[in-house]
Amino acid sequence: MIIGAMNDPKKNVAEEVALFGEMGFDYFELTIEAPGAHPDKLMREKKAIQDVLSSYNFGVLAHMPWYFSVAHPYPSIQEAISKEFCRAFDVAAEFGAKKATLHSEFLPSGIQERQVHTAKTIETIRKLHKEAEARGIELLVENFNASSFSIKDFKQLFSEVDMGMTFDVGHAFTSDGEGMENYLAQFRKRVKHVHLHDNDRRTDQHLPLGAGKVDVARVVKEIRAFYDGTITLEVHSQDRDYLRISREKLEILWYGKKKFEENKEYLQPEAKKN
Ligand SMILES: [Zn+2]
Repeated sequence: MIIGAMNDPKKNVAEEVALFGEMGFDYFELTIEAPGAHPDKLMREKKAIQDVLSSYNFGVLAHMPWYFSVAHPYPSIQEAISKEFCRAFDVAAEFGAKKATLHSEFLPSGIQERQVHTAKTIETIRKLHKEAEARGIELLVENFNASSFSIKDFKQLFSEVDMGMTFDVGHAFTSDGEGMENYLAQFRKRVKHVHLHDNDRRTDQHLPLGAGKVDVARVVKEIRAFYDGTITLEVHSQDRDYLRISREKLEILWYGKKKFEENKEYLQPEAKKN
């Protein structure tokens, strides 16, 4: 398992990379999102960002704006958004990303017939999956909630498009999230990336691990039983120290306290002298 963190798109990307590098994260999940991480800005600052990324030996995963529609009721608007998705894939490829995550629709599903909403989502994702693939990127779809795209909808999507998913633990635990076990019972083989954060088991709060009501120890046990890949801590607290604390909690739960201490000693031998 390797642990990453995601930039706040309102902040300077190079500074975000340096912050996570100093905290000892293993990779960087780049959300390609205005204003701080707009595609044009990322391309202008490419050299500076890449220098910081390589100084921390960071690989990059890409994340698309969560509010970009995939089932917009106006075809011309969806077309424009899909073009922006492709521009983000271009930039993701420039930064060496091999995987990109996109959310299901965030607009309320009630504005069009449910079947239409689902069919449009699948159609857009099918196209974008191909576009990403053409750029050497594996597109992953992330669970949000049942109103947006339910387990039943995911089943339909995966029967039509052979693709992986980003399993978002926090989203699964919201009141409209359908539960971790239900997702994993169906899609554990599709999980190629994980987002982890805490909440009150009602709303999507992106809290530090242990600050909400999600049983993180149980989550780690479940995930660890079948998965050993990238886990991004999507903790959106203003005080970024909570990212570091969440990282330590995850490592201790994953490896056990003893192994965690040994790993730390191996990776940061100078820390022992102090
Ligand atoms: Zn997420």
